[in-house]
Amino acid sequence: MNRGGRGRAGGFVAPGMVALVTDAADAPQPEFRSDVTVELVRASASDSDVLFAARVSTQGEQTLEAAAAGTEASARDRGLINYLMRDRHGSPFEHNSMTFYVQAPIFVFREFMRHRIASYNEESGRYRELRPVFYVPARERNLNQVGKPGAYEFLPGTDEQHALVEVATRDSATFAFAAYQRMLEAGVAREVARIVLPLNIYSSMYVTMNARSLMNFLSLRTKVEGTHFPSFPQREIEMCAEKMEAFWRELMPLTHAAFNANGRVSP
Ligand SMILES: Cc1cc2nc3c(=O)[nH]c(=O)nc-3n(C[C@H](O)[C@H](O)[C@H](O)COP(=O)(O)OP(=O)(O)OC[C@H]3O[C@@H](n4cnc5c(N)ncnc54)[C@H](O)[C@@H]3O)c2cc1C
Repeated sequence: MNRGGRGRAGGFVAPGMVALVTDAADAPQPEFRSDVTVELVRASASDSDVLFAARVSTQGEQTLEAAAAGTEASARDRGLINYLMRDRHGSPFEHNSMTFYVQAPIFVFREFMRHRIASYNEESGRYRELRPVFYVPARERNLNQVGKPGAYEFLPGTDEQHALVEVATRDSATFAFAAYQRMLEAGVAREVARIVLPLNIYSSMYVTMNARSLMNFLSLRTKVEGTHFPSFPQREIEMCAEKMEAFWRELMPLTHAAFNANGRVSP
């Protein structure tokens, strides 16, 4: 089946292989990005949500008015939030919700979705044709891994290494996407054709977390000086985590400050 009359052929063809490269002018061309997108879609999250949830244990119904009114937290409330964080009373940090829209390569989503205390919906490679957008590391992305498992350090790459990564990434993504297109044009189902696509193709999803699960995510997926239990995240998921943290810091500044002051340990 030829979808839209695209031309085909061209490219390298070994004996016994089918041509993989489409040469039609309207064939989608691969795009390359080195960043991730994170948008805050919706949030119901404030420091006062933590306070009324904590105070119900000693004040019962007296907390209802403040909770219903969404009363702003004051600087004097900082002490209670800090105490909850320090002593790891985690449940008051659950009465809130943040929904993020994320665009990132699939290898990032694979790590992301290990965080089970979150809700996810991702675009489907079965129900839609995937867009040819691929990740290629930026020049500032460190390339050399030294150290041992659990404590790797990443150091800058040489110019030659960067050139190799750039060319190899672009070539393999272009080749794989041409194979995908070729199969779609031949009428092969999207769910089968997609199996040749690489992990650096971008996907998109909504993820919803509360502050407690976000803190667990941030404690594991960011590397920040002064953290009690340092983690060694892959840089690309850390890029997502940093953007999510920036939104959260705006919404819950006292909670965010207490998280940092207590070594970024999830309560
Ligand atoms: C640097 C790094 C390297 C990693 N390397 C690997 C690797 O090589 N291989 C690999 O498979 N994974 C790896 N992971 C993933 C890791 O093991 C976790 O799956 C991931 O970080 C999610 O953490 P989490 O379970 O705390 O998060 P969530 O699933 O969001 O859980 C949050 C918290 O809820 C509780 N919880 C959730 N589910 C359960 C449960 N079933 N039982 C009891 N308590 C539960 C726990 O307290 C947990 O901390 C790595 C993660 C990092 C950060």
